[in-house]
Amino acid sequence: MNKILSNYDEILKQIRFCNGNLDRKYCETKLIAVSKQFPKEIIQILINKGHKLFGENKVQEAQLKWMDLKRENSEKKIELHLIGPLQSNKASLALDIFDVIQTVDREKIALKLNKYLGEKTDLKKKFFIQVNIGGEKQKSGIEENLAQQFFKWCSNDLKLNIIGLMCIPPLGEPPAPFFKKLRNLCDQLNLMHASMGMSNDFESAIEHGATFVRVGTGIFGERN
Ligand SMILES: *Cc1c(COP(=O)(O)O)cnc(C)c1O
Repeated sequence: MNKILSNYDEILKQIRFCNGNLDRKYCETKLIAVSKQFPKEIIQILINKGHKLFGENKVQEAQLKWMDLKRENSEKKIELHLIGPLQSNKASLALDIFDVIQTVDREKIALKLNKYLGEKTDLKKKFFIQVNIGGEKQKSGIEENLAQQFFKWCSNDLKLNIIGLMCIPPLGEPPAPFFKKLRNLCDQLNLMHASMGMSNDFESAIEHGATFVRVGTGIFGERN
């Protein structure tokens, strides 16, 4: 427990330090604590500390943990982000659980989100488009050269409130060029938010203009 809190403080300190070093055009970087595979009791420690932004990568796991956690902490204004792939048959459930969906990556998903949002008009949701920034075959995300067209269609035709772009750079390569590319794409599309950077590379992501970093291991420790 103490370890998690001291990790958390350390990460926050580094984020502030990186932000302070920059002549920033963008808003200050926010930390998403990625709590996947960690149980409610562990997550509650950070909630008690006052942290509000969390990320999960699986809809069903999030449902099991966060339906309760959100109810038990309803006064705390928690914002839960989906950062993993979304299947179309879980789109409706995802809208019930998550406040922000960062992985809008194909037409089918965008259409489903549009459909269910229409039925849940009371929901104020935010979305990111996931970009396959390394052009990797197996990786999800819209191709970089289709991103502009997809963004326009999602926001103009489907009225999805797209606030930024998200990426996961290729493993085993220096991430900086990919962070730079995603930030440039955000700027071209007039999007403030870039969600990029994880435990191992969030400092570089901030240097290149991340407004959200997603840190799991660095706070909660290794997952099984
Ligand atoms: C798990 C995950 C993270 C956090 O990764 P760590 O290396 O544990 O910080 C960030 N983004 C996505 C999309 C993830 O799935």
